[in-house]
Amino acid sequence: MRKKIVAGNWKMNLNFEDGQKLTSEIVNMLKDENDKDVTVVLNPPFVHLYPVKKLIGNTPNLFLGAQNCSDKGSGAFTGEVSASMLASFGADYVILGHSERREYFGESNELLTTKTRQALENGLTPIFCCGEPLEIREAGTHEAYVKNQLTESLFGFSDEEISKIVIAYEPIWAIGTGKTASSDQAQDMHAALRAHFASKYGQIIADNLSILYGGSCNPGNAKDIFSKADVDGGLIGGASLKSRDFVDIIK
Ligand code: PGA
Repeated sequence: MRKKIVAGNWKMNLNFEDGQKLTSEIVNMLKDENDKDVTVVLNPPFVHLYPVKKLIGNTPNLFLGAQNCSDKGSGAFTGEVSASMLASFGADYVILGHSERREYFGESNELLTTKTRQALENGLTPIFCCGEPLEIREAGTHEAYVKNQLTESLFGFSDEEISKIVIAYEPIWAIGTGKTASSDQAQDMHAALRAHFASKYGQIIADNLSILYGGSCNPGNAKDIFSKADVDGGLIGGASLKSRDFVDIIK
């Protein structure tokens, strides 16, 4: 049985106090309301990691993740944060390859292989993002485009390594736009990606991969999207900044 996961991606939002408040609210709501088989991950900016970890404490099924890590192990790389530092703060997950990092920070498929390796070597679970821009969707070549992102970044990993990765499909045209993919569009892509992994790693490994959907998920559309057979949860941006919305999506 693959894991159902809802991860909140705060992006570059919230100052210290607001981050504390949001986390405390989520922790309190989840104590009463979390369905025990959903894994929840909070992915705040780096500076929030330690205080958020302390607030999470031992709340069941609630985990800490980062939004990025360095491709380097350690040393003279000013401004970078390594996977090993994240692990030492108690992070369990790290988002890699978000389209904003690909677009604004020039992250290539090749660089993302190295970051994924760093994450895995330090015991972090990568939430590996993929997704096509609008013009590719309109040209009808979206499946080939996204499969290629995954092939180039991930298909050098072993069976054991690939089994530790979570995939997040996020069509770029749906991120922060209020325009979500339909549940059928999400299902079609997720099934195609699972088949792609099966072609390389076999059906059992593919069936165990959690594939999350991201892009304008909200409490109104999450149920429909998450009800699809190959959608195993979501990566939530804007709606993860409001405790009630985020917890409603989890529910
Ligand atoms: P959104 O962002 O939910 O605000 O569209 C999702 C994401 O970028 O991870």
